Amino acid sequence: MTPMQAPANPPAQQDQTVPGQALGIASDSSQATPKGKVAVIGAGPAGLSCALELLKAGYAVDIFELDERVGGLARTVEVLGQKADLGSHRFFSKLDEVNNFWHQGMSADDFIVEQRLSRILYNGKFFDYPLKGFDALFKLGLVESTRCVLSYAYAALFPRQEPTFEAWVSNAFGKRLYEIFFKTYSERLWGIKCSELSDQFAKQRIKTLNLSKAILNAVLPQRNKDGKPLTLIDEFVYPRLGCGMVYERVAQEIERRGGRFFFKQQVVGLTTAPVTAADKAAHPAADTAVDAAADTAADTAVDTAADTAVTWANNGVMGAPHSFPLKITGIVTQELASGQGNGMSNTEVAAAPGTTPQTRAYDIVVSSGIFREMVRSLTVLPDKVRALCSQLRFRNTIMVYLTVDPDKAKLCPDHWIYVHSPEIKMGRMTDFANWSHDMQQGQREHLLGFEYWANDDEELWRQSDAALMAQARADAVKTGFITAAAITGAAVHRIHMSYPVYFNGYESVLAAITRELDKVANLYFIGRNGSYKYNNMDHSVLMGIFCAQKIAGQYHGSLWAINTDSDYQEIKAQA
Ligand SMILES: Cc1cc2nc3c(=O)[nH]c(=O)nc-3n(C[C@H](O)[C@H](O)[C@H](O)COP(=O)(O)OP(=O)(O)OC[C@H]3O[C@@H](n4cnc5c(N)ncnc54)[C@H](O)[C@@H]3O)c2cc1C
Repeated sequence: MTPMQAPANPPAQQDQTVPGQALGIASDSSQATPKGKVAVIGAGPAGLSCALELLKAGYAVDIFELDERVGGLARTVEVLGQKADLGSHRFFSKLDEVNNFWHQGMSADDFIVEQRLSRILYNGKFFDYPLKGFDALFKLGLVESTRCVLSYAYAALFPRQEPTFEAWVSNAFGKRLYEIFFKTYSERLWGIKCSELSDQFAKQRIKTLNLSKAILNAVLPQRNKDGKPLTLIDEFVYPRLGCGMVYERVAQEIERRGGRFFFKQQVVGLTTAPVTAADKAAHPAADTAVDAAADTAADTAVDTAADTAVTWANNGVMGAPHSFPLKITGIVTQELASGQGNGMSNTEVAAAPGTTPQTRAYDIVVSSGIFREMVRSLTVLPDKVRALCSQLRFRNTIMVYLTVDPDKAKLCPDHWIYVHSPEIKMGRMTDFANWSHDMQQGQREHLLGFEYWANDDEELWRQSDAALMAQARADAVKTGFITAAAITGAAVHRIHMSYPVYFNGYESVLAAITRELDKVANLYFIGRNGSYKYNNMDHSVLMGIFCAQKIAGQYHGSLWAINTDSDYQEIKAQA
């Protein structure tokens, strides 16, 4: 860990603190009358980036969050007297506007520069992560590596055609390596067989590697068009006090600009109304735009309309009132009982005693709340569309935190370790002291986070804290580098709905739902759980920014189409 000299992924111009400028959104607004009243559901990275950009563009923004703090899945929590993220949270983006957001309100001293170290633990040995051909084959031994090479050769000769994760990875690495390094971990994470998991997940997250490339790359590094070697990003910047520090600073900026936060408020309903003749009459310029939708002149007309009144658009479409049968009119909120809402995205939270749901009027609603729940709350949609939501699945995470005395354990220098050994139940282990010593808050002990994954109906999800802590202690000892005597404390944190599951065929279910949602004007869905996309933080921030641009009439693309490609985030040419 080194003090920050220069950020590894700095903003394009250090003095440019206004990302919206680069994107065409007005830098700030001194307008007395806001352009429109927006409700943003969720104060995670997507909701916050959208809210900030909307405020800069002159909208009045209220943010509703069921938890009692900002950051969503990327928040930092206090555990056993130390600070911890909900699992490893490394930020990287190639995009200036996303980096500018990340550095918003932060000084150079707030960040440290880290050289990533993460490995795979399998059968008591550490393997490089991402997999490196020679490293993996050498450590697996002669017999096993011969099997792997033969199985890869077979896959190269007879590639499988099914659009599944299993087929995709087996083709890329051979069935044998797939079984050793992908199957156990992926089935543990997703809770379904790899043959039922969509290949989209593999394409997004491990697109750039296969065994021959991994071996070839070790000998002849890939190069970009200027001849510079391409590498997976190894250096990253990390906020001293955890990832959530960034989002807390952004929230301060949002409040400074007049945005309002409503914590412990769950949005339980979305209200709509038919588009009226008055709506149509109020937007003549936009009508022209739709009539000439194919013309480039349409863009200008839509822009003009956006300047004069609330833009008529949603995730997919920009148009005029008469292209939408319905418009959003507001949200229904429920105040939560004290102590509730702590388990992220919890759909089992209780209402505060004596409170009833409250309807609030808004011109525009942006949701980063759980997609499935939000769609179900749109009672105006056909029953069959709302029923489709039952097919969308979310996976839960259980974080078990352990404090470990470094003098009684052989702790590793890794930021995180993927655990592929079948006899150990946890999937990933993070040592927060290796990210930033300031997270230790003056303690000697290292705080380790062990990740387990479960569905609502799995026994693991319903286990008591004591049972989960005992499981984590047993797993720690099985790693071989932590003794039982070294563990000084334990705590459990359950995260409800942390991963949207890309089951085979999920795209067609999603497409059927989004086609209906595109009929409602001024209703936007962004973010990881909010749009059912396996986003990292940078993808969610980008979606938030693009959504604000779309509302402001500056972005005409479809928000559904924003991708989460692996090489988009990981690969860059070395400077
Ligand atoms: C274990 C783990 C490790 C990760 N590691 C990384 C990493 O290394 N790098 C990386 O970039 N990303 C990582 N991520 C992903 C990252 O956390 C998410 O991409 C990011 O937080 C998504 O932001 P979001 O705003 O889209 O959604 P969220 O963070 O989920 O925020 C949504 C917010 O909406 C609120 N909400 C939900 N429903 C309602 C409702 N009805 N009413 C009011 N509020 C509601 C929630 O409480 C939440 O605060 C990781 C995630 C996990 C779980």
